[in-house]
Amino acid sequence: MARPDHRASLTDLSRGVPFSRRHIGPSAADQQQMLDTVGYSSAEDLLDAAMPGAIRTTQALNLPAAATEPEVIAELRQIASRNRVMSQMIGLGYYGTHTPPVVLRNVLENPSWYTAYTPYQPEISQGRLEALLNFQTVISDLTGLPTAGASLLDEATAAAEAMTLARRAGKSKSSRFVVDADAFPQTISVIATRAEPLGIEVTVADLSAGLPEGDFFGVLIQYPGASGAVRDHAALISEAHERGAIVAVAADLLSLTLLRAPGEIGADIAVGSAQRFGVPMGFGGPHAGYMSVRAGLERSMPGRLVGVSKDADGDPAYRLALQTREQHIRREKATSNICTAQVLLAVMASMYAVWHGPDGLKQIAERAHRNATVLAAGLRAGGVEVAHEYFFDTVTARVPGRAAEIVHAAADAGVNLRLVDADLVGIACDETTTDGDLLSVWRAFGLGSLSISDLDAATPDALPDALLRSSAYLEHPVFSAHRSETQLLRYLKSLADKDYALDRGMIPLGSCTMKLNATTEMEPVTWPEFGSIHPFAPVEQAAGYEELVRTLEGWLAEVTGYDAVSVQPNAGSQGELAGLLAIRAYHRDNGQAHRDVCLIPSSAHGTNAASAVMAGMRVVVVACDDEGNVDLADLDAKIAKHVENLSAIMVTYPSTHGVYEEGITELCGKVHAAGGQVYVDGANLNALLGFAKPGQFGADVSHLNLHKTFCIPHGGGGPGVGPVAVGAHLAPYLPGHPLHEGTKVGPVSAAPHGSAGILPISWAYLRLMGPDGLAKATASAVLAANYVAARLREHYPVLYSGNKGLVAHECILDLRGITRDSGVTVDDVAKRLVDYGFHAPTMSFPVAGTLMVEPTESEDLGELDRFIDAMIAIRGEIAQVQDGVWPADDNPLRNAPHTAAAVTAEEWAHPYSRQTAAYPGGVTAVKYWPPVRRIDQAYGDRNLVCSCPSPEAFED
Ligand SMILES: *Cc1c(COP(=O)(O)O)cnc(C)c1O
Repeated sequence: MARPDHRASLTDLSRGVPFSRRHIGPSAADQQQMLDTVGYSSAEDLLDAAMPGAIRTTQALNLPAAATEPEVIAELRQIASRNRVMSQMIGLGYYGTHTPPVVLRNVLENPSWYTAYTPYQPEISQGRLEALLNFQTVISDLTGLPTAGASLLDEATAAAEAMTLARRAGKSKSSRFVVDADAFPQTISVIATRAEPLGIEVTVADLSAGLPEGDFFGVLIQYPGASGAVRDHAALISEAHERGAIVAVAADLLSLTLLRAPGEIGADIAVGSAQRFGVPMGFGGPHAGYMSVRAGLERSMPGRLVGVSKDADGDPAYRLALQTREQHIRREKATSNICTAQVLLAVMASMYAVWHGPDGLKQIAERAHRNATVLAAGLRAGGVEVAHEYFFDTVTARVPGRAAEIVHAAADAGVNLRLVDADLVGIACDETTTDGDLLSVWRAFGLGSLSISDLDAATPDALPDALLRSSAYLEHPVFSAHRSETQLLRYLKSLADKDYALDRGMIPLGSCTMKLNATTEMEPVTWPEFGSIHPFAPVEQAAGYEELVRTLEGWLAEVTGYDAVSVQPNAGSQGELAGLLAIRAYHRDNGQAHRDVCLIPSSAHGTNAASAVMAGMRVVVVACDDEGNVDLADLDAKIAKHVENLSAIMVTYPSTHGVYEEGITELCGKVHAAGGQVYVDGANLNALLGFAKPGQFGADVSHLNLHKTFCIPHGGGGPGVGPVAVGAHLAPYLPGHPLHEGTKVGPVSAAPHGSAGILPISWAYLRLMGPDGLAKATASAVLAANYVAARLREHYPVLYSGNKGLVAHECILDLRGITRDSGVTVDDVAKRLVDYGFHAPTMSFPVAGTLMVEPTESEDLGELDRFIDAMIAIRGEIAQVQDGVWPADDNPLRNAPHTAAAVTAEEWAHPYSRQTAAYPGGVTAVKYWPPVRRIDQAYGDRNLVCSCPSPEAFED
């Protein structure tokens, strides 16, 4: 019934402004203005012109209509309430931990940390680089090995990386890798998945009985073991070395405050997880995996490495070391495919160490150990056999035939134990273990009243003397300087102030989709009902998570047009590997095991080729034509040459050149006709969502990057989630559960649902946007990129455009001609943008000498114009260099970025003013000041320093 006057209905008023209007930057009026500039009357017309009709879907997405922010929070509370918060004493690499509240609020819940990008531009990333260097120092000190990386994806994949590192660094000709039977079962599973396509034979051996017969190139030892047993492996390690093998030790970081370090017992490599350093369990992740290595192996390490170099004034400055060995750049020569890692979680773990310091960490370890010894003493007093004399925090109890019953009884009392088998129960203590937990455990074993204090007084430690740690650790002042909360708060703030994140301005990084990470999406991540669930808790305790995962996988299948999705891969790179393993297994089951050629266009992201190699495939590069499209003639030639062995093609759509290729459906048809499968890299889904579905326009499998299109923040270089989506024929080959054997393809992550703890973010995004909001976001993202291209085209050539001169969701600005004429490089422009208050676009990917701009839908018109105006002003500055007004070696571009110290120095000898240096766009009240001047990359690579430098290094 029509309303009598113009009042809005109560329903409308309650709904408020739709979330999509908060997520999408430009207002309707601004969008109209942008459309006028691009030359289209509506976003629909623009999309119709830019996107090939052949790939367009006609139906709206079948997703629930948009909900409001309060509704989404209420729904997620409802889902969360179906997870059961327990005392988690399962162990297996996941432990209870108290996140220091000052770290929880000021890192994990702080956009200055979580919205930052990977620190490729070191001058504007000194804060997180310092935090990561602290992390590396923690790992290096505790493991007793000189070089540690800035995080890997989880412990199990880190162990798999250790295996391949051992293979390429060692001298052994053997293709066999020996794994400790007392390693975590999920580690053994992931190693098996990763070994098989590489032709590595894995032998799981009871190392307490010594090394197996025969040759092997490497050994992985778990220290302490999954059973809790603490063994002295020194003799075993030296025997392995004598037999030509490299030894990796998967070590528990907390135990290393009490136990001899892996490096001290001879390990070449240490790996593990930093989860228990203040990072919630989150049903399996995200957590920082770690790796450290002995001298001589640092240049073969996977993942990123932070190092110290110096800036233009000779002052120490941090940056990513050895970037030219980054796996992207090495493509098919890559030895690992890792790209997005776990920076935010590594920062949290490092701050946990900064907060507690060496003494505090040792106390936490001693408490966990004491709890375990008292627990074991109580069990023994009650006549229960304890399997090991020496243990750190985990006790294995032998209870023939009674294990299941005891685990159930404990669960009824709110405590999760590990059901090892019918006869064995595992019990892990940690920082959060209480007296009540110990009493509950004893009761579950049927033991009567025991006195904790009496047992404590009467029971000695259970660590072998020969393994007691005597070496110091965390002696750097940073680990003792921030003991009060005020001090740590200010330290965190001072680091965040050095960095440029989305809370300052736009980060127009092509291929990275640095869009809004909304607060409502982030909020649930730190709820205990999501944070404190153990990944191997009984399924009925994780009903909320199971529902969340099932719904999200269903929605992702709907938006991509595939039939099945797994959220297990914990980065895009891991989704790639999972997708290629599915293809490989599919061919094998069809009697086509010989198909091993993977076609990859020259424009592809480096992880594609790296993943193909890891999946045991041979990479064959397909050329691109002058328009940046896959050269279909070359494709024909390569298919013809490899038709017998063609396994797959991996293409990115829209391409990394930022255009919708017209030939995509034809390309899919050609590959299918030759018996190959089509992998579409879904990193650029932000240009398709709601308009086209890879699963419908001809692809068989894709990965998505939830940390790009689906709003998980980049965290300064991780976490991420890289779901793999497949057609029905590949569904049986999705990654298996890490604790279940017999799946067609094994797991690619340690936890069944990977980094489950951050899935509420993407769930919330889809729920908040609804089908219309998602389509609007895509249209707005494409409009923004075309607006940038239209306005900058006369100043910088736009390298590629597709149909009607339009780009997709990003555009490549070609500086090569400008560099040739003026000597000004992409680097100079990127650093000069810092003076103007911007993060640089993507540099020299996918084409050297270019900048790739992806504005995303979340940037408002004012911010887009500010960026465009800065780029135009920079073009004017370049002209001044070109015209000889400024010398090629002394101009605001070459000297950028300018620090406060540089522009306020007594001396100013440059041919441009201090104001031009620091306030090129005019003086503003708020300005981002980079803390260091341009950093000398080569110096740092020649003089590799990858742990905290002494404070003296920073003196004048
Ligand atoms: C980001 C990206 C990847 C890699 O994803 P990660 O999550 O960083 O592992 C692969 N392909 C393309 C095109 C990308 O942009």
